[in-house]
Amino acid sequence: MTDFSDYNGKYIDLHTHSTASDGSMTPAELVRHAYERGLSAVALTDHDTVAGVEDALEAGIKTGIEVIAGVEISVSLSGWGILACEGGSKWKGDRPVRPDSGGTTPHIRAAGELVMNGTDRTYEPEMHLLGYFFNGDYESILMTLEELRRKREQRNPRIVAKLNEMGFDITMDEVRAKAHGGIVGRPHIARVLMEKGYTASVEEGFDKYLAAGRPAYVKKDKLTPEQGIAAILQSGGVPVLAHPIHLGLPAEQLADVLERLKAAGLKGIEALYSENTPEQTRELLELAEKKGLKVTGGSDFHGSFKPDIEIGVGRGDLRVPGSLLNDLKDAGRRLI
Ligand SMILES: [Zn+2]
Ligand SMILES: [Zn+2]
Repeated sequence: MTDFSDYNGKYIDLHTHSTASDGSMTPAELVRHAYERGLSAVALTDHDTVAGVEDALEAGIKTGIEVIAGVEISVSLSGWGILACEGGSKWKGDRPVRPDSGGTTPHIRAAGELVMNGTDRTYEPEMHLLGYFFNGDYESILMTLEELRRKREQRNPRIVAKLNEMGFDITMDEVRAKAHGGIVGRPHIARVLMEKGYTASVEEGFDKYLAAGRPAYVKKDKLTPEQGIAAILQSGGVPVLAHPIHLGLPAEQLADVLERLKAAGLKGIEALYSENTPEQTRELLELAEKKGLKVTGGSDFHGSFKPDIEIGVGRGDLRVPGSLLNDLKDAGRRLI
């Protein structure tokens, strides 16, 4: 069992987001904030990018706090047949609300079969992987992420091209104009379809053309869990499963998933997490022990964009002992 008494009074946070993805603080501000909150180490783990890492490392040297280069990669679970909510369940953003927060229990379904509900018919199940790069070499992961970004940028033009083939007179310029300089997505395409009189509503645009399984649908380009783990390993990184509770799986099924991830090279799980109940934390610690996986922990800090989550302490009671970082570094060294 992880020995939480052995922390030397030092606490860390291995899961934070800066302006390089969807956090409110710049990497340097975030590092200073971590220092001011008394943490001894902080990892920057922006979504699908390492763009903030250099600034964070530099701020760490100036401030005198250990900064770990990291990333949080979204991988697709489409082929794994995991995570779908029965009709009538609640959804928040792009994921089903977990049982502990009032939703119905997600169910394992046959591969490829997704249960849709009224609010989001295009849900693509995903899993988040954290990668920690202790030797400062993340060139290969950078290239992988760049390639993914380029592919994603091609998604909207591909959807528009499909619509054009179907006879709709719509252009990317019109779609872009609807996003007002922000990230362009299918809602903007649906809006153009509606304004040009092809559909009666944005929802009809999704129902008839844009949703998964409809004729103008283009899949999001995402790595599989195995590819995500391989990409992190190839960069000399240590791959860890982020917030396992977000998968919403019963313990037994989570154990199976971990087995599969471990076979692909997974080294640890984020057993300490802001949103865990004490019960979930206990189960995850036990599971890590049973599977021979390292334990990590983090708040998933996003600055003022998630005001209820503070760096280091999450909703107030999170404590991630510094000793976990040494364990993780050991796992990293064994990879070399
Ligand atoms: Zn995440
Ligand atoms: Zn995160």
